[in-house]
Amino acid sequence: MMPAAETQNIASNGSSQGVHLPIYMDNHATTPMDPRVLEAMMPYFTKIFGNAASRNHSFGWEAEQAVEKAREQVARLIGATAKEIIFTSGATESNNLAIKGIAEMYRERGNHIITQVTEHKAVLDTCKRLEKSGCRVTYLPVNADGLIELEDLKRAMDDKTILVSIMFANNEIGVVQPVAEIGKLCRERGVLFHTDAVQAAGKVPVDVNAMNIDVLSLSAHKMYGPKGVGALYVRRRNPRVQIAEQINGGGHERGMRSGTLNVTGIVGLGKACDLCREEMPQETERLRKLRDHLKTRLESKLDYIHVNGSMEHRLPGNLNMSFVYVEGESLLMGINDVAVSSGSACTSATLEPSYVLKALGLGDDVAHSSIRFGLGRFNTLAEVDYVADKLIDIVQKLRELSPLYEMVKEGIDLTKIQWEAH
Ligand SMILES: *Cc1c(COP(=O)(O)O)cnc(C)c1O
Repeated sequence: MMPAAETQNIASNGSSQGVHLPIYMDNHATTPMDPRVLEAMMPYFTKIFGNAASRNHSFGWEAEQAVEKAREQVARLIGATAKEIIFTSGATESNNLAIKGIAEMYRERGNHIITQVTEHKAVLDTCKRLEKSGCRVTYLPVNADGLIELEDLKRAMDDKTILVSIMFANNEIGVVQPVAEIGKLCRERGVLFHTDAVQAAGKVPVDVNAMNIDVLSLSAHKMYGPKGVGALYVRRRNPRVQIAEQINGGGHERGMRSGTLNVTGIVGLGKACDLCREEMPQETERLRKLRDHLKTRLESKLDYIHVNGSMEHRLPGNLNMSFVYVEGESLLMGINDVAVSSGSACTSATLEPSYVLKALGLGDDVAHSSIRFGLGRFNTLAEVDYVADKLIDIVQKLRELSPLYEMVKEGIDLTKIQWEAH
């Protein structure tokens, strides 16, 4: 038993009561699997283990039935039909299949692809690869809000443009691109529109018809499903999109993606889609409130902090903030019992500032001092309060050690002094 005074101390001190450490607040990197998803998957590991491609016995039929049910569940989440869903190993594969498959199939018509600078590497590196084999790629810039300008997109289109690939929502700053407008423009120009909707699917409404989306990637492990399974939506009507397969074999998934289906994973993806769809209205509200609470608490106690990317066009569970005049690594060490992402990316043993934050115009130091909070289904108000308390405390402590912050406090104009300069 804890002495009463001590208990009181913890309680008044913040919210370490009722909070299990470490706290996971990195739901854009991956999400924990929902126990209801696991439950749906379990029978398919042992009892119903058939190969969905086995046509001669009930083991195969049962597996196939489960796969077809999941196909409907995925389709329903995004307003598609089941036949338009192809199962893959995840969104990296979906993005590769979409972009390479279209570039190959529509080669006669043109070789120009338009994307943008803050895409996930699964899109950017695929485009870079295609540039080596004769494709021309335009990388649109983003504005200070992290969004593309439709005028830039219009200007970039020419008679050789076959594909526009713009993500639905960004994985670092959570901003939601003007997808419906992009889709409308593409449709008018007769250009195919692919969107990497990994962060959006199951979090905000996605409707492939209302938004004129032709091809869409999603991934189970970003929506409380298992890792290693995803889907690609490929429009079948108005227009019928054709994709050159990138994996050859038994002709599974209507020839577009050969390989024995990951039945358990697919069942999990289907269930995950159902849960997200059913719970989206309430969950969106809950997450937005938690996120705004975190933001309000931080802003009430700390100065020189700012949100990266549009607050208006943003996923409900995302907050990306810079804590200016604080050294990034010390900041992360100070909150080491909270799993979040920093504005730094580890590339070949050096800490590089995030290319997404750089694209918004942030300097290296500000990018390094940024934190991505990814709130998800299992985060609670007590956890948000714990994280807020902890951050306020550590940022205040680190700033006491920061000569730059002291100068700012004393009213010295730092705008001319490069914060980047060490
Ligand atoms: C996670 C992610 C991917 C990659 O998905 P995997 O299924 O992990 O391969 C692609 N795009 C975005 C925006 C992501 O967040």
